Amino acid sequence: MIDDNGDVWITPSAVDKGSLQPADIVCVKRDGTIIGKHKPSSELPFHKAIYATRPGIKAVIHAHPPALVSFSIIRKTPDTNILLHARQVCGPIGYAEYKLPGSPELGDVIAGEFYKGINAVIMENHGTVVGGKNLSDAFQRFETLEFCARTIIYGYMVGKPHYLTDEDIDAFELQALPMLPQMEAVSYPSDEKEKRYEICKMVHRACRQGLMISSYGTISARWKGNNFLITPTDVPRWDLQPEDIVQIKDGKREPGKIPSRTSYLHHEIYKRHPHINSIILTQTPYLMAFATTGSQLNVRTIPESWIFLQDVHSLEFGAHNYGRSDIADKISLNNPAVLIKNDCVLVTGDQLLQTFDRLEVAEFSAKSLVLSSSLGKVVPISNEQVEELRAAFF
Ligand SMILES: [Zn+2]
Repeated sequence: MIDDNGDVWITPSAVDKGSLQPADIVCVKRDGTIIGKHKPSSELPFHKAIYATRPGIKAVIHAHPPALVSFSIIRKTPDTNILLHARQVCGPIGYAEYKLPGSPELGDVIAGEFYKGINAVIMENHGTVVGGKNLSDAFQRFETLEFCARTIIYGYMVGKPHYLTDEDIDAFELQALPMLPQMEAVSYPSDEKEKRYEICKMVHRACRQGLMISSYGTISARWKGNNFLITPTDVPRWDLQPEDIVQIKDGKREPGKIPSRTSYLHHEIYKRHPHINSIILTQTPYLMAFATTGSQLNVRTIPESWIFLQDVHSLEFGAHNYGRSDIADKISLNNPAVLIKNDCVLVTGDQLLQTFDRLEVAEFSAKSLVLSSSLGKVVPISNEQVEELRAAFF
């Protein structure tokens, strides 16, 4: 990170990243003086080159995450138009040709890409580097880009990825999303507070299990009648606290908070489906492989998958636009989960734990299908066997 004095704070060279302590971080003063007990990272030159080129960038992350290295070694960049969210968070991706690690020449080629206004760069036969207005912004971009790369890789294992056009993305961004009106007074009964804790616990669990990333994902739970609690917009999911959750009562939002942009969709589903008491909307890498290729997610793989999910439908991109009822129409007791192309998965259920279980089963089913692609052709369980399950379990 670069601070207001122009001093750069950087991780040390040759110290185990798994046990880093704050005191291990090295400060490189503006005049080049080094303060700290270690040597700064050998990649300091290109960090400095980025800060010099783009004064708005205050944090830089460089690493060798496997999916992005896969792109780096076939000498291609991932097309972030694969997912609306990846495009919004990462923008277009730059490409820096191979130069000796730690050399000023490496700094020149990377800074040359950042100079174009690009915030994320694939480094040829090396890895990736992303910048942000602060560390959290840079981390969200880094995590989202690796996620995007995984989605494309898994997508090619089950089909051919379909990319959004810039026009698709512009049209989505230009739609006017009305903000729910603010309520005048708010109360927090104990059953309301319990739901806040429950939602937070599930968000953190989803992040830990790779079922949510820090910059994307919404969880809501019905509270009373059609009133519900929902995660906010623009709070990193890893850092979410119970007091960040937003109460929605009589169609109005808790004062001073911005609920998820999909609040209207959650409201519509709760109004239409009295049996649904919780909703998770997220992106997971294996499910997104199906949502971006149009390959059918056939969950008739093992009895558990079909019992938990029955059949999972796929809806066109834009199905969750404001004013559309496609998702609320499609969801039912027999179809608790839907995929929205190039966007997300939406899972519903009674209690939040049930909805979470369904999400986990859906992602594991998708993962088995992706992994099986290198072994042979999947043989699903038959209609007869499905009917036998229906009779036994429903
Ligand atoms: Zn490196």
